[in-house]
Amino acid sequence: MDAAEARIAPVAPPSSGDCRQPLGDSHLASCERLLRGVAIATNALLTERDHHAAIDTALGILGEATGVDRVYIFEHHPHQNTQVPAISQRWEWVTAGVVPEIDNPMLQNLPYSEFLPRWEIELNQGRPIVGLIQDFPDSEQALLKPQGILSILVVPIKIKDRVWGFVGFDQCKTAHQWSEIEVTTLWAIAGSFGGTIARHQVEQALQDINRTLEEKVKQRTKALSLAKEQADKANQAKSEFLANMSHELRTPLNGILGYAQILAQSQTLTSKDRQGVTVIHQCGDHLLTLINEILDLAKIEAGKMALQPTATHLPSLLRSVVEICKVKADQKGLSFFYRPSQELPAGVEVDEKKLRQLLINLVGNAIKFTDAGAVTLQVEVLETTAERISLRFCVVDTGVGIAEADFQRIFQAFEQLEAQRQPVEGTGLGLAISQRIIQLMGSGIDVNSQLGQGSEFAFTLELPLVVEWSSRQLAATTGDPIVGYPGPPRRILIIDDHPQNRSVLVSLLEPVGFQVLEAENGEIGLAMMRTQAPDLVITDLAMPVLNGYQLISTVRQDSQLKHSPIVVSSASVSHSDQQMALDCGGDAFLAKPIEVKALFATLSDCLNLDWIYASQADGSPLSGPEVHLPSSTTLDTLLRLAQQDNVKSLREHLVTLKQRDRRYAPFANSLLGLTQQFRTEEIEQQLTAALTQARQDGAAL
Ligand code: ADP
Repeated sequence: MDAAEARIAPVAPPSSGDCRQPLGDSHLASCERLLRGVAIATNALLTERDHHAAIDTALGILGEATGVDRVYIFEHHPHQNTQVPAISQRWEWVTAGVVPEIDNPMLQNLPYSEFLPRWEIELNQGRPIVGLIQDFPDSEQALLKPQGILSILVVPIKIKDRVWGFVGFDQCKTAHQWSEIEVTTLWAIAGSFGGTIARHQVEQALQDINRTLEEKVKQRTKALSLAKEQADKANQAKSEFLANMSHELRTPLNGILGYAQILAQSQTLTSKDRQGVTVIHQCGDHLLTLINEILDLAKIEAGKMALQPTATHLPSLLRSVVEICKVKADQKGLSFFYRPSQELPAGVEVDEKKLRQLLINLVGNAIKFTDAGAVTLQVEVLETTAERISLRFCVVDTGVGIAEADFQRIFQAFEQLEAQRQPVEGTGLGLAISQRIIQLMGSGIDVNSQLGQGSEFAFTLELPLVVEWSSRQLAATTGDPIVGYPGPPRRILIIDDHPQNRSVLVSLLEPVGFQVLEAENGEIGLAMMRTQAPDLVITDLAMPVLNGYQLISTVRQDSQLKHSPIVVSSASVSHSDQQMALDCGGDAFLAKPIEVKALFATLSDCLNLDWIYASQADGSPLSGPEVHLPSSTTLDTLLRLAQQDNVKSLREHLVTLKQRDRRYAPFANSLLGLTQQFRTEEIEQQLTAALTQARQDGAAL
């Protein structure tokens, strides 16, 4: 071991004894300066937020305090290419007149083994490098001397027991001999550098974690919004598909259902044929229910089902439900009880169609799942205020019942209970839809049931009361058949490329006294509008040559025709199609299959017509100039039926009569109105008078 090696022998770690050595005055002053510098530097390291700036500041303070020419920090790291241990300069402070080395590429990525193998060992073992450069090994001098360094102190920076790097102090002007106090004091500050760097590393790691988390959240959000977009698109496609399918299915159904009803009235059918027609009607009806339910469910899923509350005559609504359900109950030999409250209000504001759908589903189920006993529909008034009423609807049956465990399951779409799998029709959608409707109305369905005993389905509705009722509104909701209208006959043009759609409308409109014209496309329709001047047009949308939209646009731009009322009738139930039809100039929209009530309500609005109902048509129907009387033989038969009080048969004869020849419609309708109220005496009087008149007419000819 030579002298140089001895001088740079390891220095012991700092101990409290060092400062107690006797010191000269100047040495004391420099020691004090050093300690003050270390204190200020430590403060900067602890308080400055930006670790880079904090270290820069601390290096400057230490440089001033120690009177050295250069202070710097190097970091240990694996060599960028070879992965061997290497160092890079990260911070540097230099006194005035000394060339900075911070940009010296030689001091970046410098392998320890090439120039400073001894330093690597010493520093990694936690010992400082200290001494005059001239005493250092040649290989080290070759690196340090060109930088003008005469004396050096290098102390390791440790972070958690590992040497992170080192802080070095260079003397370039004097060959300064480092005292033990200087070494230990500066050794101590290396710990503060380690603390600051470690704190920064933790902050950095936290920021990285945050950034990664943010990135992950962003990616996840993006993936979710993409998935939602795709789901929305798929849903949209499904809705469009269902709307299109429903359109395609409804169009032929309009013909099937319309004609099944018209054929059922025919007198010439054998009973076997009639049975066949009834089956066609039932199947068509079932198909329509299926289409509607699937469409309803799609609307529910797409969140598009909305309520359309209108002023509704509650007793009539309930009666219509009862009439439909009573027929079904009768067919099964069940008793059907309808128990309305005595205080039932006349008018309430409710979505009439949906409430009817709901009740028919619940009562329909009760009948379906009951083989013997009774089904009861009960409507109670729970509470009334001046503006609102609280009603409890309750459907009770004595049927197969439902196990409590299945109470939830039956409200799920397509759920049908195994235990009740009988040859009953159904889709398993009814209760799912009913539940949703009830929720939209702000309530829920309560179930109470016992297997083998029967079931009870109930719900409560809070509805606004409707006090004012116009006679037109009332008549329109009571189900009283329309038999005509006052004033001159009106002319209606039907434009539709499907002959069966046209003829359904013709069969509905002519008996009420309309003159009906037909056109098979928009172009022919437009020409007829010019030549025949109809009072109102009912047009389809999808048609060859000139479609409904084009027709309406043309009419609205035509000075002669632009004010003609146009009703759009389409099998498209998509709201956007309906809106488009109205936006391009249609006055009203009627969905196919045509609902008679909606048809007459629309005509009444568009033509400003009041209807004559069967119950009102009790004047002197058989004497007006427009009333066409059937032959005296027919009148004779009718009279005999009236005298026998055989109202059922009398009605059948009257219906057949008007189907056979439309000219007899006013005569038949007038009597049909009276049969509804069982006013057989008046019927007899009128038939006797008609018979007398027919005989007189016959004699006069
Ligand atoms: P669907 O009647 O078309 O099968 P729903 O959704 O209306 O469908 O009813 C679902 C199931 O709930 C029925 O299939 C039946 O198993 C059960 N259910 C509904 N109402 C009753 C009832 N009143 N009595 C017994 N079971 C019923």
